[in-house]
Amino acid sequence: MARYIDNKCKLCRREGMKLFLKGQRCFTDKCSLSRRDYPPGVHAQRRSKVTDYGLHLREKQKLKRIYGVLERQFRLYFKEAERLRGNTGENLLSLLERRLDNVVLSSGFALSRNHARQLINHGHFLVNGRRVDIPSYLVRPGDKVTVKEKTKKLVADAFEINKSQVVPDWLTVAGDALQAEVVSLPRREHVPHPIQEQLIIELCSK
Ligand code: SF4
Repeated sequence: MARYIDNKCKLCRREGMKLFLKGQRCFTDKCSLSRRDYPPGVHAQRRSKVTDYGLHLREKQKLKRIYGVLERQFRLYFKEAERLRGNTGENLLSLLERRLDNVVLSSGFALSRNHARQLINHGHFLVNGRRVDIPSYLVRPGDKVTVKEKTKKLVADAFEINKSQVVPDWLTVAGDALQAEVVSLPRREHVPHPIQEQLIIELCSK
């Protein structure tokens, strides 16, 4: 699967908000946004006012960048969200929250989303006792996410660093066993990001 490999801080600067793509660094004064809070690019500071389309587009880009999803995969999530019963915007956010890399990050087992993806890609996580090396794997209620024995030390270190992190209540995390259990499907109120999903739906439904 293709992935974004350029400077991540540029993405935050483009969206004009912290997307928290670099783990602990995002909480320090090394954050690029606190030093250069304008979009990247030579002419970026001269850009004129944002159009209605631009507003919608920025919201979609923001969501994709937070979850590290590229356009093609995002379209698949959108199709699935439309197919499911209920509010499409909420379904879309719920699908993104259910990604295994998001579960690993939200449980405090990784320092950043990229770190979570790397650990998963290298086969360090098990879902219900079976190795899953696909970061986009969608968890379901009842699933138990655990760490391979040989990786426990690495993940325990990350968990220690993240110990003040609040775990969303659709997950329960047993820190001593380094195990996360999915207790329910994530709902809108569990999504910690300031996203106006309605704008995204309006854009993608055209
Ligand atoms: Fe964004 Fe984090 Fe970079 Fe700050 S340090 S600009 S929050 S990725």
